[in-house]
Amino acid sequence: GRLVGAAADGEDQAVEAALRPKSLAEFVGQERVREQLDLVLKAARQRGATADHVLLSGAPGLGKTTLSMIIAAEMEAPIRITSGPAIQHAGDLAAILSSLQEGEVLFLDEIHRMSRPAEEMLYMAMEDFRVDVIVGKGPGATAIPLELPPFTLVGATTRAGLLPPPLRDRFGFTAHMEFYAPGELERVIHRSAELLDVTIDASGAAEIAGRSRGTPRIANRLLRRVRDYAQVKADGDVNQDIAAAALKVYEVDGRGLDRLDRAVLEALLKLFGGGPVGLSTLSVAVGEERETVEEVAEPFLVREGLLARTPRGRVATPAAWAHLGLTPPSGGGP
Ligand code: ATP
Repeated sequence: GRLVGAAADGEDQAVEAALRPKSLAEFVGQERVREQLDLVLKAARQRGATADHVLLSGAPGLGKTTLSMIIAAEMEAPIRITSGPAIQHAGDLAAILSSLQEGEVLFLDEIHRMSRPAEEMLYMAMEDFRVDVIVGKGPGATAIPLELPPFTLVGATTRAGLLPPPLRDRFGFTAHMEFYAPGELERVIHRSAELLDVTIDASGAAEIAGRSRGTPRIANRLLRRVRDYAQVKADGDVNQDIAAAALKVYEVDGRGLDRLDRAVLEALLKLFGGGPVGLSTLSVAVGEERETVEEVAEPFLVREGLLARTPRGRVATPAAWAHLGLTPPSGGGP
């Protein structure tokens, strides 16, 4: 996998369970979301009720799965984890819903990728704790109503805007997860280092945090690679020099750009004078597929204000020139 990619790879999955905060108090950052969620859960507990359905939106690796587990833990409820793509037929969803225990948390990752019939079944389940199971086909088909125990649906999506409004409206509480500030990532890194038994100082944590793209999953992954380096090349302790040297080996620069990101920027600046240049031309110059440039490299470059997508093509910003230590051509730019 890609070292600065936000999606979980095999190694992440193996270690993430150990690094996951288990309570709201342990969950770093996202102050607003934490405070709101704390109220929602406390109030439900006081009433002895099942918590309202919760929608979590935000980029991969920001802690949606972690928060859903915390919701279950705080409610002292069991949790079932599944995802939109895993639910092909309404029947798959009916099977899950009908086997839930009272108060159980159902975590539905990538909820925007559920099939349409399943989605419609979910509306009714969320609102009335009931599903209609269709038995038979054609004119003889009958709907058998099935009562469900009250449960809490925690839906996760990368973009709440992708959800059909009727689904979005059935969540009692929607939380938008933001990218983490460097200081928050430093706290994530210190916490993980302690759990992994790694000694790290403040400057080392800051060095890793600055390259983690606002994403705890990436911060944890970079920490593990820096730990490897510290162990093999030094005495195992992490400071700023060790972190910087390690991440140089892995080609993650001071801003979290990797080799592909920099190749795209370099081509844009050096071959096309900063643009505008079409995506296809840029991709050929980098020797990558269009999709790779557009979906893998560009989103972070755009987010960082290094590249702009314009109707005339891709354009580098002044920050891009500065980041690569190059001087923009003077005079009539774009
Ligand atoms: P995806 O959508 O890709 O599944 P996610 O948003 O569900 O990602 P998680 O799996 O919850 O992300 O988190 C990824 C890793 O980051 C976990 O190991 C978790 O421990 C860590 N993490 C996420 N958020 C926090 C946080 N606020 N504090 C501490 N660690 C965090």
